[in-house]
Amino acid sequence: MALAFVIDAAKCNGCYNCQIACKDEHVGNDWRPYAAPQPEVGQFWLRVEEQVMGTIPKVRIHYLPRLCNHCGRAACLEACPEKAIERREDSLVLISPEKCTGCGACRDACPYGVIYMNAELGIAQKCTGCAHLLDHGRTMPRCVEACPTEAIQFGEEADLADEIDGAEVWQPETGLHPRVFYRNVPGTFIAGTLYDPEKKLIVEGARCLLSSGGKNWEAVTDSFGDFWFRDLRHGVYELLIHAEGFAPKRIAPIRNKNSVNLGDIPLERA
Ligand code: SF4
Ligand code: SF4
Ligand code: SF4
Repeated sequence: MALAFVIDAAKCNGCYNCQIACKDEHVGNDWRPYAAPQPEVGQFWLRVEEQVMGTIPKVRIHYLPRLCNHCGRAACLEACPEKAIERREDSLVLISPEKCTGCGACRDACPYGVIYMNAELGIAQKCTGCAHLLDHGRTMPRCVEACPTEAIQFGEEADLADEIDGAEVWQPETGLHPRVFYRNVPGTFIAGTLYDPEKKLIVEGARCLLSSGGKNWEAVTDSFGDFWFRDLRHGVYELLIHAEGFAPKRIAPIRNKNSVNLGDIPLERA
């Protein structure tokens, strides 16, 4: 058995129900031996991450719920000197509140920052996959049940094969084989607005040619003078603009790390 989560960014509207449901399940509730109570403040075993790209007025926001990845090669488990962390047969990774001595080695080893220290109890804590529910007849963790748009799916990896196909994981470079998969995570964008400073009018129908690393993209400015290049990767780009009646314009280098709004771009008359 190999359980997995699949999170579809295109379906997530940032309602925070999953985050609240996780809190409702674990704050003040003692589910030992699975998990001791989560404190009222300071811990988010599931945290909805808001990602803001671009600058006003060309801004795009999306949401990615973040939780323990129940990694196939769990760095936390390998780092624990007390052998207090186990991977169950169903692949969920759990920290034993009884065996944990609160040394913090697992928190330091996890590159995702999803382990929290409970100073009062002197233990480390994180998402349990709601194993206490799964072992007692429930089929879904609370976060999954709470999602109104079915943006979070949970189950046997084999049953989710179609959803997992083409999905990505959080920071794949860790090599830890995360078991939380993300679909439809938007790439970054490069956008801007062309205008004629003499007539104080936007320029519609201009051809914008973007290139980077031998790849090319083309866009035409719309009735607002806007051009958008979407689903781009991080990198350095060059933009060439051709508009009838105007001199060609080159903008480079454009360093795209987290989307770029080039703002209002004046064109000179030819
Ligand atoms: S995400 Fe971090 S805490 Fe969760 S299993 Fe992986 S290494 Fe451990
Ligand atoms: S599986 Fe349970 S503990 Fe984990 S994030 Fe979801 S609600 Fe929280
Ligand atoms: S409950 Fe669903 S839609 Fe709402 S924030 Fe969580 S994943 Fe997104």
